[in-house]
Amino acid sequence: MSAQIIDGKAFAAKVRGQVAEHVTRIKEENGITPGLAVVLVGEDPASQVYVRSKGKQTVEAGMNSYEHKLDADTSQDDLLKLIADLNADKDVHGILVQLPLPKHLNEDLVINSIAPEKDVDGFHISNVGLLGTGQKSMVPCTPLGCLMMLRDYHGSLSGMNAVVIGRSNIVGKPMAQLLLGDSCTVTITHSRTKDLPAVVRGADIVVAAVGRPEMVPGDWIKPGATVIDVGINRIDKPEGGTRLVGDVDYASCADVAGAITPVPGGVGPMTIACLLANTVTACCRIHGLVEPEGLTA
Ligand code: NAD
Repeated sequence: MSAQIIDGKAFAAKVRGQVAEHVTRIKEENGITPGLAVVLVGEDPASQVYVRSKGKQTVEAGMNSYEHKLDADTSQDDLLKLIADLNADKDVHGILVQLPLPKHLNEDLVINSIAPEKDVDGFHISNVGLLGTGQKSMVPCTPLGCLMMLRDYHGSLSGMNAVVIGRSNIVGKPMAQLLLGDSCTVTITHSRTKDLPAVVRGADIVVAAVGRPEMVPGDWIKPGATVIDVGINRIDKPEGGTRLVGDVDYASCADVAGAITPVPGGVGPMTIACLLANTVTACCRIHGLVEPEGLTA
């Protein structure tokens, strides 16, 4: 293995520290405590784990956490009413509706009912439009975390060839916008892309966000390229039990790449750290305070 490991766990701890420092300053100087409301509908086990972890880290950063757990059969009207209340609540600066929602709820409608300035996931259509036009917006947490790691490792990304594998609204598309914003030459690839290996071989930066375990082998990677692995896939171990792997084949890619994020311990921890960063950023924007430096795009 020759690649440098980009340690997302350590980076996330640093970001959380910066967030906590800024929260302390806002509390002392302005008497304001940033607050994050997380809404969970139903009892999806993975979502419950995420929500618990988000709440714990929010409190550890010195912010207020408000958890709203609703039954799986909650009506759309009741959910929209709760979001309207949170939009109007002066103690709430960030609102996150945990996805996926139960099938009877209209995800787009629900997300677009969140006040854009409190949309800490950055999924509201206004924030998508602002990001796409290079304006100040709330930026989706996972791609923001990837961007922070890339900037930290490379300094400037200007002129680099970046290939994003996956075109989801949550990761692939906003990731491409952010890389474009940092003056990369960006290619977005997906399940219909022709000769994906050849496209990936041209990349100085590869961001894999597909959801297919270990799909990208080392011989797709240009020697020295930086590989950011967003994938989180649970696979069976031959000896029994399961383990987490990314969308890239770590061992073979690490032999060729210049730098690589591991799974776990890469992009994953950065996602929640960026949620905390977005909450403090939202609080500062809402109250017209100085924003923390380096914690947004
Ligand atoms: P998604 O299912 O919404 O999108 C997957 C994308 O991959 C699609 O655009 C599809 O076109 C593309 N794709 C599918 N098969 C392909 C193929 N053979 N070749 C090229 N492209 C192909 O997934 P998502 O929400 O973007 O998530 C992707 C992965 O990232 C998942 O493993 C998910 O668990 C993980 N994820 C991790 C974090 C984190 O915090 N680390 C956050 C979000 C998602």
